[in-house]
Amino acid sequence: MERKTLFVDLVLPLPVKGYFTYRVPFELNDIIQPGVRVVVQFGKKKVYTALVRRVHENVPTYAAKFLLSILDDFPIVNEIQFRLWEWIASYYLCTPGEVMNIALPSALKLTSETLLVLNPDFSGDYSQLNENEFLVAEALEIQEVISITDTMKITGQAKVIPLIRNLIEKGVVLLQEEINDRFKPKLESFIRLSPNFAPDFALQKLMDELEKRAFKQLEFLMAYLQLAGQYYDSDPPEINKRKVMATIRTKNSSPLKALVEKNVFELSERIVSRLDSYSNDQLPSDITLSEAQEKALTEIETKFQTFPTVLLHGVTSSGKTEIYIKLIDKQLKAGKQVLYLLPEIALTSQVIKRLRRYFGDLVGVYHSKFNEQERVEIWKSVNSNSVKKDGLKDYPIVIGARSALFLPYNNLGLIIVDEEHDNSFKQFDPAPRYNARDSALVLANMHGAKTLLGSATPSLESFFNAKQGKYGFVQLMKRYGEVKMPEILVADLSKEYKQKSMHANFSSLLLNKMKEVLERGEQVILFRNRRGFSPRLECEDCNHSPECKNCDVTMVYHKHINLLKCHYCGYSTRVPATCPECGSKSLKMKGFGTEKLEEDLKILFPKHKIARMDLDTTRGKNAHQEIINRFENREIDILIGTQMVSKGLDFGNVSLVGVLSIDNLINFPDFRSFERAFQMLMQVSGRAGRKEKQGTVVVQSNNPWHSVIRYVMDNNFDEMFDSQLSERRQFAYPPYYRLINLTLQHKEKDLLNKGSEELAKLLKEKFGARILGPEYPLVSRVRNRYLKKILLKIEKKSDITYAKKLLSQAINVFSETSNYRSIRVVIDVDPQ
Ligand code: ADP
Ligand code: ZN
Ligand code: ZN
Repeated sequence: MERKTLFVDLVLPLPVKGYFTYRVPFELNDIIQPGVRVVVQFGKKKVYTALVRRVHENVPTYAAKFLLSILDDFPIVNEIQFRLWEWIASYYLCTPGEVMNIALPSALKLTSETLLVLNPDFSGDYSQLNENEFLVAEALEIQEVISITDTMKITGQAKVIPLIRNLIEKGVVLLQEEINDRFKPKLESFIRLSPNFAPDFALQKLMDELEKRAFKQLEFLMAYLQLAGQYYDSDPPEINKRKVMATIRTKNSSPLKALVEKNVFELSERIVSRLDSYSNDQLPSDITLSEAQEKALTEIETKFQTFPTVLLHGVTSSGKTEIYIKLIDKQLKAGKQVLYLLPEIALTSQVIKRLRRYFGDLVGVYHSKFNEQERVEIWKSVNSNSVKKDGLKDYPIVIGARSALFLPYNNLGLIIVDEEHDNSFKQFDPAPRYNARDSALVLANMHGAKTLLGSATPSLESFFNAKQGKYGFVQLMKRYGEVKMPEILVADLSKEYKQKSMHANFSSLLLNKMKEVLERGEQVILFRNRRGFSPRLECEDCNHSPECKNCDVTMVYHKHINLLKCHYCGYSTRVPATCPECGSKSLKMKGFGTEKLEEDLKILFPKHKIARMDLDTTRGKNAHQEIINRFENREIDILIGTQMVSKGLDFGNVSLVGVLSIDNLINFPDFRSFERAFQMLMQVSGRAGRKEKQGTVVVQSNNPWHSVIRYVMDNNFDEMFDSQLSERRQFAYPPYYRLINLTLQHKEKDLLNKGSEELAKLLKEKFGARILGPEYPLVSRVRNRYLKKILLKIEKKSDITYAKKLLSQAINVFSETSNYRSIRVVIDVDPQ
């Protein structure tokens, strides 16, 4: 029999350029195919999981190594995914391996450094394990953590990855990186009115009795009925006990106990997934769109006939989600998949819940706080090649943060990018530094699918594309249910400081509004874009401020740990008693962060419940969600937070939003600062006054007549966009120019300076005045590396592919110069 000699081109999860060719052992000829994982040796000792991009018979010029084994029976990555990776690699100037690295869940790409631990849920039943598996489990019992390389030594085998995969599947081991955020089920209590009391007459009789004898119990009953709404046609629903208690603002559950004893209520406990805590509350049967929504929907569909991409500009609370739901529904009926992308932080249970109400378990969720098993499960579910067993579901709808772009879709009909203006769609570090919104358009195109970009505050780029006729454009300028846009008031800080009417960092205007609102039992959100207690200490005698020893930034004071902390590298140190420069004892705290506001509020509003939502209070897997739940349940009166409070939240009872200072956002030295400040103000204002009430926003500023504030007050997008566009044109910024940012990094300042001059010179030979710099960025040293930036500005009309080629060539020449080989050059295409 003639046997073919086959080769494979592989993607390795490494920042190495291009593909690697390996030889296929004859016995694997029949089962090798593109998209399956194989195990290969790379370098002297290391083994990697690699992906087969191509199978071919072209003999390479060097002696190719044999691949060691094949891990999959069917492709886990399809052709379109590979093409997306390749597009990202070429557009963002990185390697397919770097894209693979973030695209595949870790459990699908074991490497020799991957660390293993014993699964705490493992029963200890070794009888199901073969000899080698047992050796590994035993080693883990003793050593707790071992690497995959260790398992090769322990078992004396080179091909250990299939073995590890079996151990993971049998629930014996876990990857160490997932041990920290393992999914812990949560138990909650639910109450339900006994059907005996459900009929009108029985209920009335019960209420009469309670009114006479047990008023506290009546309160519980009323709260339950209020939350349950109209259910008389059906069985009384189960309502979360916490929610009932929160409605009547009590911590005492004994009246409830009494009601349970009298069999009025049935009490049950069950495990709820943290993401669908309240999914059993009233399920609305269907959505009826308002006239304005209906019109927008029709327009979107009409535009889709001619445009692959449509931008929906819909004010906050206009009900964009409802329109998305209708569009998704049609895609499902046509047998297509839908991807719904949101910024990570906006991906809360609120949105997920709303989608699940309509689509039930057709909705799969994918984001970074999910553990490896959950991610792999969704990967397999979306993959049409998977054999669906063990209750593996199909998820025709996936809602996720930017990495959801990389799931193995084979039949996308629609991608929705909600909050499309949000800069967190751009990955900053590590490579690939891709923008998920822009990549979504490319992915959609590969599937012949449509993309809907939605926002209350579209990015200038998307708005421009719409105006230029590149995207279809639809506007929805009415809030749903005729809710009015909030009233926006500006507190003039300099005036109030002069009048001495400020209390700590609160203007009298803001404080008075807060008092009014809280008295009515309504809630308040306060926004401040600085975490920690105080952004810096300053010596009153010599003006010195303690800086991080690794970075060129001042240290932030965190009071609860009583430390100075660097927000760039995490370094922390004790608070000095005297000035390290001049020895003076008068060190003053300058500026204020969320932590200080929280402390001041506790003094100003001792009777109210105050919570803080920022990076420091939301580190745990569910911390963010829990604060939102508590706020939603009205267990919190005042929520203070950073950007986190401005994204994608919809609370019915918030009628006041305070922005402690807009000035530092407006004055931030970046060409996008006005746009960002505008978006932030509009978004945060959108949290005020949903449902029936008109809300109020108080913005504190030293510059109350600033154009950005005025545009927000007048709800005037068009002027804001026009004025910004003309500035962008004048100063050669996006959307008229494309930017590519180069950051050079090195420990030695002098070498870095020389190197960056040299690279800039090379680049100027090719690009002339399009090259700016080198110069120090705002923060010129991070983690003991000095930084220098070179900016390339390219006219929109010119050939960007050619420009990138020239750029890569120049960087290659530079990096191959022996003096500069150690300088790291980070390329950021379309920086945010
Ligand atoms: P947006 O995303 O545009 O800010 P939402 O989709 O969050 O707006 O809608 C705001 C509120 O109005 C939500 O509470 C939503 O449930 C409600 N809403 C919007 N449209 C409808 C509709 N057609 N029927 C019932 N409720 C709606
Ligand atoms: Zn000093
Ligand atoms: Zn630092």
